[in-house]
Amino acid sequence: MVTSINSFLHFALPDIGEAEISAVVESLRSGWMTTGPSSKQLETIFADRFGGEAVGVNSCTAGMHLALEALGVGPGDEVITTPYTFTATAEVVRYLGADPVFVDIDTETFNIDPRLIEKAITKKTKAIMPVHFGGLACDMDAILRIARSHGLKVVEDAAHALPTTYKGRDVGSLESDATVFSFYATKTLATGEGGMVVARDSEVAGRCRTMRLHGMDRDAFNRYRSTRPAWQYDIIAPGFKYNMPDILASIGLVQYSRLGEMHAKRSQLAERYNRELFGLPIQFPPQAPLGDIHAWHLYEIRLKDDAGISRDAFIDQMSERGIGTSVHFISLHLMSYWSKTYGLTPDSYPNAALASGAAVSLPIYSKMTDDDQTRIIEAIHSILS
Ligand SMILES: *Cc1c(COP(=O)(O)O)cnc(C)c1O
Repeated sequence: MVTSINSFLHFALPDIGEAEISAVVESLRSGWMTTGPSSKQLETIFADRFGGEAVGVNSCTAGMHLALEALGVGPGDEVITTPYTFTATAEVVRYLGADPVFVDIDTETFNIDPRLIEKAITKKTKAIMPVHFGGLACDMDAILRIARSHGLKVVEDAAHALPTTYKGRDVGSLESDATVFSFYATKTLATGEGGMVVARDSEVAGRCRTMRLHGMDRDAFNRYRSTRPAWQYDIIAPGFKYNMPDILASIGLVQYSRLGEMHAKRSQLAERYNRELFGLPIQFPPQAPLGDIHAWHLYEIRLKDDAGISRDAFIDQMSERGIGTSVHFISLHLMSYWSKTYGLTPDSYPNAALASGAAVSLPIYSKMTDDDQTRIIEAIHSILS
């Protein structure tokens, strides 16, 4: 049975309602298209929630670049991270002329294995970038302890981790130097493109703020509110163009107000998958420890060896039934650029290589209906039994 394209069940969809649409229209009517009061307000919300200072940017990639730059990462430095991530995490290290040093993942959580970090530290190591895979927090106590004992900075890639908690505290409020969220179209708070840096130190936050807008000593919004005339500004460095536009921030404000509701829906979808796929030859995504919150950005299953079907064939059969799935991730060490540049083979990170071959992301998003999920669950049962 091949379903028509009209009823194709997408792997991911943003949850945009009339309130978000009205907010964009209002933003356009207000005359503030670029960085202005809405982006300021979103920063205030993040700073109040997480402590420290928040800097709105136009992507998580931009935010991680800014954070590493502000923390002094430069040519010849090394930054330890996971290969089991989106390329953005590692590419920002290369932007600064530094080198990512990959450390293999834990087979249970798919997060960086802290037991392997210490062995990767050299005289050149400057920072550690953990990624909270799928929305489940990394072992941050272990990572922060290693960082502290070696004098390393920590920048969390929290693209999947809103709202995630670690030992009862929000990811974003821990002792890392910076935590960076993504508001990309498929993320748990979506503005299309966008992100937020939360930094503990106000000098670091200040450097991010300056460098996100050309290295100007004040941004457009402050320029128009300040007592100094708007044309008076200084350039203190060759900065970037990474500021968050108000059109997008206005969507973010509405999405933030719906974060709890959207997360409740994702949790409910995850619980139903756990219940109704039980007994099939798959490994389920790990649960958050008792009392902690999994953001459920991803619901990543792994086909077991006795599933009787390859991962690729499983994806094809889902697609034939009109259901979109995805893979998070194909480990970076299996990608041409990273393997050639650093002489990596699949064996360099065996756990990440194994995960890359077995993982399937099932659709999980707040706009999904019960009927959508029923269709997915029935398709998986029919393929695997
Ligand atoms: C989506 C994603 C990013 C990049 O986010 P952008 O906002 O698109 O720059 C970075 N890291 C991870 C793990 C991601 O999934």
